[in-house]
Amino acid sequence: MKSVKGVQDILSLSQEELGKQLLEQGWKKFKSTQVYDWLWKHGVRNFDNMSNLSLEHREFLKQHYSINPISQDVIQHSVDGTKKMRFTLHDGHKIESVLIPAEEDNRYTLCVSSQAGCSLTCSFCATGRMGLLRQLTASEIFDQYIEVNKLCLQSYEKPISNIVYMGMGEPLLNYKNVTQSITKLLSNTGPNLSQRRITLSTAGIAKMIKKLADDGFKVNLALSLHAADDQKRNEIMPINQHNNLHALMEALKYYYKATGQRISYEYIAFEHFNDGDQDAKNLIRLCSHFPVLVNIIEYNPVRGLDYVKSSDDRINRFAKLLLKSGVMTTVRKSRGKDIDAACGQLANES
Ligand code: SF4
Repeated sequence: MKSVKGVQDILSLSQEELGKQLLEQGWKKFKSTQVYDWLWKHGVRNFDNMSNLSLEHREFLKQHYSINPISQDVIQHSVDGTKKMRFTLHDGHKIESVLIPAEEDNRYTLCVSSQAGCSLTCSFCATGRMGLLRQLTASEIFDQYIEVNKLCLQSYEKPISNIVYMGMGEPLLNYKNVTQSITKLLSNTGPNLSQRRITLSTAGIAKMIKKLADDGFKVNLALSLHAADDQKRNEIMPINQHNNLHALMEALKYYYKATGQRISYEYIAFEHFNDGDQDAKNLIRLCSHFPVLVNIIEYNPVRGLDYVKSSDDRINRFAKLLLKSGVMTTVRKSRGKDIDAACGQLANES
């Protein structure tokens, strides 16, 4: 066999790129398809386990390609069934993923991280305090699915049914790798999931929301809104200074027109900050441009931050005002609070 230059990360190659390289080495096309299937269909991360390849072929792969898998280091179990897994990346950085089972509805939701840390410094979020350590590669995002799916099968004898990009990081600031990971999850050479099962949650990067629509994605889109006027939103989410509510509404309208997908707003309720009647009125106005589902989420305390969660009474009053105006609204109890696995709590402190 001819030699290829250096050692390449095999998971960074598309099927075509890998096929071309192996063809140049004299491999039959079906052999390169087998390698690709091992990697992406079966999630195998060790060349020795590619059992239908000859020893010679496996040795060749070992010499010329590397696999940089994520390795699980801690699993925490919440009393409510939620499980948080911490993974170490090949360079030592840590990320977290959360499995949220709802056995009664047959829903097993995986929350994946898209970056190690986050650059956006939302004032209520533990991840934001870490800063951005680095972008995750497409395979590091995809591998969270592979690893947590094993846990899901072991624990419930069911595969993951839904994936939310809502863990550490802002997915639209790692656009290329996030969309590549989505493409792998949708592919029939991978898990073959449907776009309706995938939700991308963003703090709001207007131009990238439009790009997602232009690139033909139809995943569910959730905007982490958390305040319905610019002044309050600037206060808790600095990204709003460059992507204000007007720009975000335009972008979401564009996404809705292109995809026909209802938009979700995530709204963490902070006592006497964003849970009053005027806040509800402002929010109702933001629901008039396209079909919206508002998810009101209880705030999960983060060590060192002094936000206070809204009382049940205030949340109920707020939700009633929305419902009365015809806005589809749910109030979500947080899952996994006792293991710091709930919204805004992921910070590798396990
Ligand atoms: S809420 Fe999301 S976007 Fe904001 S700092 Fe936390 S991880 Fe980043």
